[in-house]
Amino acid sequence: MIYDAIVIGMGPAGVSASIYLKRAGLNILCLDKAMIGGTLNYIDKVDNYPGIISINGPELSALMYQQIQNLDIPYQNQSVLDILDGEVKKVLTSKEEYSCRNIIIATGRIARSLGLEHESELMGHGISTCALCDGALYKGKDVAVIGGGNSALSEAMYLSKICRHVYLIHRRDVFRADQQLIDQMNNQQNVEQILQAKVDSLLPKDGKLESITLDNGRTLQVSCMFTYVGYVPGTKFHTSLPIMDEQGYIEVNQNCETEIKGIYAVGDIIKKDLYQIVTATSEGAIAATHIVKNIKK
Ligand code: NAP
Repeated sequence: MIYDAIVIGMGPAGVSASIYLKRAGLNILCLDKAMIGGTLNYIDKVDNYPGIISINGPELSALMYQQIQNLDIPYQNQSVLDILDGEVKKVLTSKEEYSCRNIIIATGRIARSLGLEHESELMGHGISTCALCDGALYKGKDVAVIGGGNSALSEAMYLSKICRHVYLIHRRDVFRADQQLIDQMNNQQNVEQILQAKVDSLLPKDGKLESITLDNGRTLQVSCMFTYVGYVPGTKFHTSLPIMDEQGYIEVNQNCETEIKGIYAVGDIIKKDLYQIVTATSEGAIAATHIVKNIKK
C-alpha cells in the first residue's frame, strides 16, 4: 500500500497534521516511538492555549489521544530509523517498511544537558528534566532548578508547592520567561533566586546527587537538580537528507515543506522564532492542508 502521507511524531504538531489529513479523507499513517502528546506529557500547566483557560500537559495529551481515536486515525507505536526520498518515499521503522507520497516530520526536540561530569550517570538519581514526573519523589526536600526561561520558572513554581526549598539558578541577571511567571515567582516565599551563577560541579554520593557547587563558590545540598536549559533537535534519522541547518533544525518554507518536495516538517524540530503549542499545531495544519491541496489538484 502507498499512503498519501505518513506523520512521524505525535506531539501537538503531528496530532494537528493528522487531524487535518484524516478529515480531508486521505489515507494516512501516524508513527511515534513514545506517547501521543510528546513533551506535553512532561509539562505541568498550559495557560496560554486559546479557549483552554488552564490545563495540565498530560490532560491535554489525553484529549489529543481521544481525538485521534474518535477520528479513527491509524497510529503505530514504532521508532523510525530512516526515511528515503523518491517518487514513492519510504519510512523504515524498527518493525516495518512503509511507502508513501508525503512525509511530515514532527519529531520535536529533547532537553539540553549542561554537559557536566556525572550528569548522565545521575540522570534519574538526583538529576531530572521533568518536574511533573519526578517532583513528588522530592516532597519536603530541597531542590535546584537551572534555567531562566518559561520552562524553568513554571516548573520551579510547580516544585515550590511540593518541595521545602527551591533554588532557581540562572546564568544571567534577567529572566527570559514571561513577566507573568516572573511576578508569580517573585511572590513565592520558598523559591530562592540565585542569579549570574552557573553550576560548576556535581557531587555524587552512593550513586545519588548529594550537592551542587556553583561558579560563585556556593555549595548547595540538594536532593535533585532539575535542568531546564532549553532543547536541542533529538532525531537523527533524517540526517542523510539535505534539509537541516548546522544545529540540526529542519528548514522549511511557508507551507512547512522542506527543499525536498513532499517532505514537510512542523513543530519544534523546525528552525523558527517561536516554539509554542499554538505555533506547532498551526504548522501541522499548514503542512497537512498543503498536502491535501496537492493531492486534490
Ligand atoms: P529557553 O526559552 O530556550 O530557555 C532556556 C534557559 O536556559 C535560558 O534562560 C538560558 O539562559 C538557559 N541556558 C541555556 N543553556 C544554558 C547553560 N548551558 N547553562 C545555564 N543556563 C543555560 O527554553 P525553555 O524555557 O525550555 O522554553 C522553550 C520554548 O518553549 C520557549 O519558546 C518557551 O517560550 C516555550 N515555553 C512556553 C511556555 C509557556 O508559554 N507557558 C512554557 C514552557 C516553555 P539565557 O536566558 O541566558 O539564554
